[in-house]
Amino acid sequence: FNVPAAKNEPVKSYAPGSAERIELKQALKTSKEKTIEIPQYIGGEEIFSGNKRKISPPHDHQHILGYFHEGDAADVVEAVNAALEARKGWSYLNWEQRAAIFLKAADLIAGPYRAELNAATMLGQSKNAYQAEIDSACEIIDFLRLNVNFMRDIYEEQPISSDGVWNRMEYRPLEGFIFAITPFNFTAIAGNLPAAPALMGNVVLWKPAFTQVYSANVIMRVFKEAGLPDGVINMVLVDGPVAGDVIFKHPDFSGIHFTGSTKVFQTIWKTIGENISTYKTFPRIVGETGGKDFVLAHKSADPKALATGLIRGAFEYQGQKCSAASRAYIPSNLWEEVKMLMIKDLAEIKMGEVDDFSNFINAVIDEKSFDKIASYIEEAKSSDDTEIIAGGTFDKSNGYFVAPTVIQAFNTDYVTLCEEIFGPVLTVYIYDECGFEDIIPIIDNTSPYALTGAIFARDRYAIEYATEHLINAAGNFYINDKPTGAVVGQQPFGGARASGTNDKAGSVLNLLRWVSPRAIKETL
Ligand code: GLU
Repeated sequence: FNVPAAKNEPVKSYAPGSAERIELKQALKTSKEKTIEIPQYIGGEEIFSGNKRKISPPHDHQHILGYFHEGDAADVVEAVNAALEARKGWSYLNWEQRAAIFLKAADLIAGPYRAELNAATMLGQSKNAYQAEIDSACEIIDFLRLNVNFMRDIYEEQPISSDGVWNRMEYRPLEGFIFAITPFNFTAIAGNLPAAPALMGNVVLWKPAFTQVYSANVIMRVFKEAGLPDGVINMVLVDGPVAGDVIFKHPDFSGIHFTGSTKVFQTIWKTIGENISTYKTFPRIVGETGGKDFVLAHKSADPKALATGLIRGAFEYQGQKCSAASRAYIPSNLWEEVKMLMIKDLAEIKMGEVDDFSNFINAVIDEKSFDKIASYIEEAKSSDDTEIIAGGTFDKSNGYFVAPTVIQAFNTDYVTLCEEIFGPVLTVYIYDECGFEDIIPIIDNTSPYALTGAIFARDRYAIEYATEHLINAAGNFYINDKPTGAVVGQQPFGGARASGTNDKAGSVLNLLRWVSPRAIKETL
């Protein structure tokens, strides 16, 4: 069994008139014309509870895409039982058999499901076509294909043997089931969080964010069509605490694969701690959480590259990436030019719904998020410690629209320089161009997070100094590039401190968390 060579899925351009653009436009139209009902998937059965929750695009309150059927604690119990039943067969397959299913899923997304999945991400999560192509289609294809390569490497890693002694390592799946809690912002992450442990032979309960169910449903259908046996991945649509109440008290709970807020992850970790003596095995706790990602510019930086990096890093997908550039430290010698470049670019950026591919900015995910972002902007508008450089407006009458906003803060501890906002808000602090070495400890200390960060500089000393002195401030560090857009297999993704357990999604390190190796010594 030769695993296909490790390479990233090419990103399609969606240029006007291209075949992929026509196909995507058609998928958008077809999706919008239907009103679908989304079930839970438990043991291969589609469960329609009758407790329906409406799904509308974040950019268009009037439109109804469909409904999902919310489940309850009894469904979670059923799903655990179905998963444990499925484990009896799944965990004994060899890795090549499991690989074939996920490689097939990748091919289905790369081919017949690509437009439908991108359309679902665009409509359900208000993501533009280009971001959907990168963050949902290509990234999940990469996760699925490259994880098969990483799995092969793990299985091939074997201990040494000697005369008369044959040693081998068996990479067993964890004993029990895995709980995957997934975010709205990346369809690919949502799909990978259940898929990675399942690839390693585990069975999974998958609880997508309620705001991502529309595209999660497409992924479940792909897994089924690819031949994933019933019960290996069960999608439960249950409120977090209701699901947690069943799962974290179950003796067979053996691991959590999480992406979401730091606060929720801390609560989960505590709950697991409280129940630790209940479990048969110490559960694996793997989580990617918040970020307050920085861009540091040195006086030698290229102003144009910096302005572009800031705009793309801060505002792509409305800043709703854990990796988004949300605070920038710019030297005084560059500020006037960078400010002018950003204002000029932002004046040309269009905001609106997703059908018009020229809209760079779409809506933020929901009302709670909109209100939170708006309150930070309101506060900045009335503060004496800030000046609004661009944007500052928001409107939720038709959709949750927030204009890309740049705030200049005059104190390094101003709230929007410290707290995660998860929206299109960038705060800049202008430091004296001679104070480069003094700004670094401030960057390191003003936020509890350590996910991504970037240095823009042409001076090699500045690059090395920042790289060395910000060693613990980011799990993904970029030199002369925006701090977003990690590519699977190229920049393994994850951060430490309050940003998570840094188990690097889409890498050998992540997959190793989902096995419990048995070393076998045989005397010949
Ligand atoms: N991997 C994404 C990036 O590099 C961010 C993932 C997230 O927001 O959770 O931009």
